[in-house]
Amino acid sequence: MTELVDRFGRRFPYLRLSVIEACNFSCSYCLPNGYVAAPGAPAPLRVDEIERLLRAFSGVGLRKLRLTGGEPTLRRDLPEIIAAAAAIAGIQTLAMTTNGCLLRKRWASWRQAGLNALNVSVDALNRQRFAAITGHDRLHDILAGIDDALADGFPTLKLNAVLLRGLNDEQLPQWLDYLRERPLAVRFIELMRTGTNGEYFQRHHLRAQGLEEALSAQGWRLRERGPNAGPAREYAHPDYRGRIGIIAPYSKDFCAGCNRLRVTARGDLRLCLFGNLGIPLRPLLQADSDPDVLQAHLLSQLGLKAAGHGLHAGLTGLTPHLASIGG
Ligand code: SAM
Ligand code: SF4
Repeated sequence: MTELVDRFGRRFPYLRLSVIEACNFSCSYCLPNGYVAAPGAPAPLRVDEIERLLRAFSGVGLRKLRLTGGEPTLRRDLPEIIAAAAAIAGIQTLAMTTNGCLLRKRWASWRQAGLNALNVSVDALNRQRFAAITGHDRLHDILAGIDDALADGFPTLKLNAVLLRGLNDEQLPQWLDYLRERPLAVRFIELMRTGTNGEYFQRHHLRAQGLEEALSAQGWRLRERGPNAGPAREYAHPDYRGRIGIIAPYSKDFCAGCNRLRVTARGDLRLCLFGNLGIPLRPLLQADSDPDVLQAHLLSQLGLKAAGHGLHAGLTGLTPHLASIGG
């Protein structure tokens, strides 16, 4: 099988597919004024288009798929999308990132449809802070959904928290309490600058270094990276069932380990989270006739993938906010 390998020798077994641009939350770093549809924006990819896309990717080595958005759970046909993905040969990890708004009600139906990994965004464990950051007083319900899914043995559960200076940077003690008995990972993600959050970024961006030093001082140890590990640096502690991951996009070598491609809800291939190129795939998703054409297109477009992003120089590419591409 031909695999997706770029000119720097990086392999891409991982696809992040946004299934919707809309979102119902208004996270202060992402959509502070809530989602507003662009006039004339096309509808998101239909299930049949998604199926064709995934079949083509599976022919070039797809092993891990993440459904994201906007808020993917707002799609009424989400169980169909999950089931369609679960039926594609080769996909071993079928994951989704969600703000958790429907987690408690629906996680069991997603699991039943074939989802085997969930990332839930939880930026703070304090009710007021959570509401202030996301615009929604839903922490209690989201945490209850996580505990239900854990109790039922959901295969992989991770929480995402964006590190925000002055808003959630004193929460480590609460996180440590939370992780003592829960076998899940929380990932602290450094805030990324996007096209629309420049001022917010100046005020709230915080490097993860201080957090990593605090973890080391409390006996947390960096785990060895597996061969297919993503960009997270992961810490473990013998007294805790949970783990802590750090995602630091501004750190040296972050892009060297890149193993993912992205497709937006409109069907544009994005080679980099902060790239300047959106390559329309939708015209090639209209008929079952020949996935080879799409595969050849993917292989040739990969030649345009750059070695790294230009975030250090403040270049955010086409990405106004991460809801537009899925993070
Ligand atoms: N709505 C879903 C959610 O929030 O989980 C999925 C889409 S959201 C864009 C995916 C992830 O990106 C979330 O964990 C979110 O916190 C993170 N994110 C959004 N904007 C970000 C930024 N500017 N810097 C770092 N992470 C960000
Ligand atoms: Fe919506 Fe996710 Fe962006 Fe928050 S981070 S506004 S939940 S897309």
